[in-house]
Amino acid sequence: MKSIVTICRNYLWDGRVITNKPSLVAWDTVCRPKKEGGLGIHECIVWNEATIAKYAWNIEQKCDTLWVRWVNHVYIKGKDWWQYKPPQDCTWYWKKICDIKEKFKDGFEQRGWKAKNKQYTIKDGYNWRRGEAIKWPYARWIWNRLNVPKHCFIGWAIMKKRLLTRDRLNLIGVSQEKTCLLCERADETIQHLFFECKYSRRLLEYLCKWLKIKINNADQNNIWRKIGRCIKGRICRNFVASIITTIMYGIWRARNEALWNKAVPIPEKVWQGIKEDNKYRVQEIKDSRKNRKEKEWINTLYR
Ligand SMILES: [Zn+2]
Repeated sequence: MKSIVTICRNYLWDGRVITNKPSLVAWDTVCRPKKEGGLGIHECIVWNEATIAKYAWNIEQKCDTLWVRWVNHVYIKGKDWWQYKPPQDCTWYWKKICDIKEKFKDGFEQRGWKAKNKQYTIKDGYNWRRGEAIKWPYARWIWNRLNVPKHCFIGWAIMKKRLLTRDRLNLIGVSQEKTCLLCERADETIQHLFFECKYSRRLLEYLCKWLKIKINNADQNNIWRKIGRCIKGRICRNFVASIITTIMYGIWRARNEALWNKAVPIPEKVWQGIKEDNKYRVQEIKDSRKNRKEKEWINTLYR
């Protein structure tokens, strides 16, 4: 199981089975739901336990299967299942099931799975075992349906402050350079590169002019708060959020262009590309009476 987790983790961060590349975000966080700041990947060790816990539930519910009858006859022999301890000389898998039963014991009480006609689901077992974490405030912006997946991923890493900017590379000893590649005037940190740099401010200015809004202090919180306040309608807000994540992706691409090809793309051109990319995404929104007004507002931006 641990090897499977390692392969999944390596594939996520490097696209390979074996890698020395460090993970940007802890695996435990990656396995949280998107609304809690993760990528919604199942933590397979816990999922496996929740699957095995279903055997414990089958025994509790006295399901009429050959296997339940068999373990009752061979092992449990009429004893109370919740107090039951496996004998030393039993098989490995039976010990495992009994172990998992102990781990999920409280869950059976708290979620009422012991009740007659109450269905235990693996999903419910998994959610109970993982527990709930604090909600991540940017989830609705980053994971909105109009966003392109690769933009979502970079946006997620930025908002979690985990993207490998030069200040972090410097900290882990990979690079000695610290200066921003786009303006060469300050250290390259996430706050600088995406919100304070002359380059990113120029892109934000284009956006504000286009939407006829003002964003004075751009930072991780303010930018989204402003959109929530100034833009009316869910579709319009999602559309603007999609533009912002495309801008973030565009900045990261420009920075990488500067790093690898020693050329910084012209902001005006980048902005035109961002606008065009998102124009086609609007056409994917369903034409309904409810959506018409909001779609019309977006279309007027392109006239
Ligand atoms: Zn800069």
